[in-house]
Amino acid sequence: MSTAPVIETRNLTKIYRDFWGRKKVRALNSLSLDVQPGEVFGLLGPNGSGKTTTLKLLLGLLFPTEGQIRVLGEPASNVAKNERIGYLPEESYLYRFLNAEETLDFYGRLFKMSAKHRREESARLIELVGLGNAKRRQLKEYSKGMTRRIGLAQALINNPDLVLLDEPTSGLDPIGTREMKDLIVKLRNEGKTVVMCSHLLSDVQDVCDRIAILYGGELKVMGRVDQLLKEQNETQLLTSRLNDAAIDEIKQVLARHDAELLNVDHPTANLEDLFLRTVHESQERPGRRIVADGAEDPAAEAPSETEATLSENTEAGSSGTDGTESPATTS
Ligand code: ADP
Ligand code: MG
Repeated sequence: MSTAPVIETRNLTKIYRDFWGRKKVRALNSLSLDVQPGEVFGLLGPNGSGKTTTLKLLLGLLFPTEGQIRVLGEPASNVAKNERIGYLPEESYLYRFLNAEETLDFYGRLFKMSAKHRREESARLIELVGLGNAKRRQLKEYSKGMTRRIGLAQALINNPDLVLLDEPTSGLDPIGTREMKDLIVKLRNEGKTVVMCSHLLSDVQDVCDRIAILYGGELKVMGRVDQLLKEQNETQLLTSRLNDAAIDEIKQVLARHDAELLNVDHPTANLEDLFLRTVHESQERPGRRIVADGAEDPAAEAPSETEATLSENTEAGSSGTDGTESPATTS
């Protein structure tokens, strides 16, 4: 297996022109990036930062104003390479009067797949994206989330090596979002290279190995997500629940090591986790009443973890305000 980059762009610039050929928008300015085989690469940036433009340039749907692009070892202008690429556009261009099976069959024909192969792949992909019980319904009846799923199935019909996903979670509810992220991880586990763009930070943080942040068509940050998010000067310990005496003792130990306790709290799960847990629990126990604060709910346990953030070295200016350090947020 070759280790040449799947995508290489050098000084890629795109200037959109108006009807009279006058320069209108510099959508991308001198973008240079590489995407390696098997990685999930995230293109992040606010609306209008050039993400969709980048994907269209990679596909050869747009021509660059300046710069070079190679995709899967070919110039982007060679559309034959697109047979090995799957593309989920930002807006769906699917036929509203076809059902899921017919849609995938249609796209399978474009790739000259045999009838048997089309049938098998359609069935597999419909299950993969979770549309099994809606596969005979016309797409015009689909919700935004279902449309996104059939779009992904369509993008995968040719078993592509490289998958380009433009805002894959747009319009999805939290469950659909989580499932889409799980699917993206699955694609990586199958050895595919994935490039996704999004303006939703948590999507990118959860699934991407590396990211590039675009702003106004320019590359601002690029690197591994874990490296970019690592706080260099802090250490985090997560322990089972501690009482105040234990916390005081730990402070003394830290003082001997020239470190101080910066923060003590009882961490809550993030909202996404909470939401998904609530939905799953509701599915499992349909009659159960959800109680505000969890006060009367016997299943609601007190938080059993204490999170401590401490600094390894003494930073000037970090005032160790002893009084506010242990709020002991037992709600
Ligand atoms: P993103 O996908 O990050 O939201 P786009 O790549 O769609 O951003 O757009 C980047 C910039 O290029 C925006 O300012 C947008 O208005 C402009 N743009 C996009 N497509 C066209 C077009 N066909 N003609 C003129 N300007 C365009
Ligand atoms: Mg876009």
